[in-house]
Amino acid sequence: MDSNSPPVEIFFFPFVGGGHQIPMIDMARVFASHGARATIITTPKNALSFQKSIDREQNSGRPISIRTLVLPDNVDIADTDMSAAPFTDTSMLQEPLRNLLLKYRPDCVVYDMFHRWCGHTIDNLSIPRVTFTGNACFSRCVNENLERYKPHEKVNSDLEPFIVPGLPDRIELTRSQLPFFHRQQQSGHKPKFMEHTFGVLVNSFYELEPAYVEYFRNELGMKAWLVGPVSLCNRNVEDKAERGKKTTIDELSILSWLDSKEPNSVIYISFGSLARLTPEQLLEIAYGLEASNHPFIWVVGKIFKSTGEEGENPENWLPSGFEDRIRESQKGLIIKGWAPQLLILEHKAVGGFTTHCGWNSVLEGVSAGVPMVTFPITAEQFSNEKLIVDVLKIGVKVGSMEWVSWNTKPSAAVGREKVETAVKRLMDVSEEAAEMRRRAKELGMKANRAVEEGGSSYKDVDSLIEELKSCKRN
Ligand code: UDP
Repeated sequence: MDSNSPPVEIFFFPFVGGGHQIPMIDMARVFASHGARATIITTPKNALSFQKSIDREQNSGRPISIRTLVLPDNVDIADTDMSAAPFTDTSMLQEPLRNLLLKYRPDCVVYDMFHRWCGHTIDNLSIPRVTFTGNACFSRCVNENLERYKPHEKVNSDLEPFIVPGLPDRIELTRSQLPFFHRQQQSGHKPKFMEHTFGVLVNSFYELEPAYVEYFRNELGMKAWLVGPVSLCNRNVEDKAERGKKTTIDELSILSWLDSKEPNSVIYISFGSLARLTPEQLLEIAYGLEASNHPFIWVVGKIFKSTGEEGENPENWLPSGFEDRIRESQKGLIIKGWAPQLLILEHKAVGGFTTHCGWNSVLEGVSAGVPMVTFPITAEQFSNEKLIVDVLKIGVKVGSMEWVSWNTKPSAAVGREKVETAVKRLMDVSEEAAEMRRRAKELGMKANRAVEEGGSSYKDVDSLIEELKSCKRN
C-alpha cells in the first residue's frame, strides 16, 4: 500500500436492522484496521448499540469514529431494539445526511441498499458510493437469473421444482420458496441502486463461492470487493459478547454450560435478529430437539401470539414440563432474547448450527467451521440454503417449503419429525456427518486465512482503498 498519501476517508451508513447494521459496523472496523479513516453515520439512539466497541477501537489507536445525524424535533428512526424491517422508510434521514456530506465531503460513502433514496443523494454531491447489499454473490446471481429467465413462470404449481438457468451448479427451487416480488410476476424489479455505483462491498470471501464471484463480476458485470467474513474482526470476548444487543444470559454461564459438554456434541439453534416464529412452530422445534437426544442451545426471539399479534414471551409455547426436564438433565439451554452468537459458535462443544440462513449467520457458522441444519424462512434465505446444502455440502435441509414475509405467519409449521431427522442426520455419528464436518472445518480455515495479511479479503480491502486514493488524486 502507498503509505505516503493521506488516508482515505470513508463514511459507512448502515441500515438500522441487526442483520445489516452488525456487519457494516464490523466492515468499518476492518477498513480502519487497514488505515482508512472510517466514520459510521447513524442516529443518536442507534449509536448506543455499538458505541462501546468503537470506543475500544479508538483506545487501541484505530482511526474510527461515529457521527450522528441531527434529526428535527429529536425524532429517532431507531428504537434501538435492532428490529427495523427491510421496508422501513428511512428517507427522514435524507436531509441530515446531505448536510453532513456537504460539510465533510468524504472520499467515499458505503451505504446500505435498504436506504433506497440514498444513491441519488450521494450522486448529487459527486461523491463515489459503494453499495452494501448484505448478502452473498451466490444469492445475487440466483436472484439475477430468476429475473432474467423467469423459470418459475414455466412450472404448473408452486411446489413443482425448477432449475435456475445459467448458473455454475444445478440450483433447484420451487415457486413457494421465492420472495413475493418474484411470484407477483412483476418485471423490471431490477434494483436501481446498482446504477452508477462505484461497486459493491460483499461480506463473503473468494474461496467460499469462487464460481459465483466470477459470475457476478464477469457475467453480471458487477465490480465487487469481497472483504469478509467481517465478523472475524471481533477478536476479544467483549467484542464478541456485546455484538448487536446486550445478551440475555451472561456469557460466562453459557460458556461454563458448554465447557461441560463433549466436543462437537451441541447443536445451536437461532433464527437471527428479525424472525418471528409461531407458538406452533416453537412447539414442533421443542419436540424435535428433545427427540433428537442431542444437547442444544436454543435462542428464542420474537414470537407471534396465537391471535396474530407479535410479542416477546407469550406463555405456553413449550411442551409441558419441557424447561424443567432440560434443566434437570442438563440437556438444553434456552436463551430468551439475544445470544452471544460468535462466542457460542466458536466453542469446541458446538458441533452443529440450526439456522434460518440469514447471510451473517451462515458466514459466522462457516467461519467457526460448523456444519448446519438449514431452516430458511424469508429474504434470500432459501438461496443461502442451496449454497450450504447443494454447493458447499456442509448442511442438511430441515425441509422448509414456504417463503413468508418477515412479519407474516406461515400457513403451516415445519413438523417435529423433520426437525428430529435433520438434527440426527447432522449430529449422529455417521460417515455422511463426518464428511460434512470435515468440509465445514476446511472452509472455516479458509475463511480465517482470507482475512489475514495476504489473504483474498485482506487484499480486496487494500485494493478498494487504493482505488479510492487514486480517485482522490485525480
Ligand atoms: N445475532 C446475535 N445474537 C442473537 C441473534 C442474532 O449475535 O441472538 C447476530 C448474528 O450473529 C448475526 C446477526 O445477528 O450477526 C443476524 O444476522 P443474519 O443475517 O444471520 O440474520 P437476520 O437477523 O438479518 O435475519
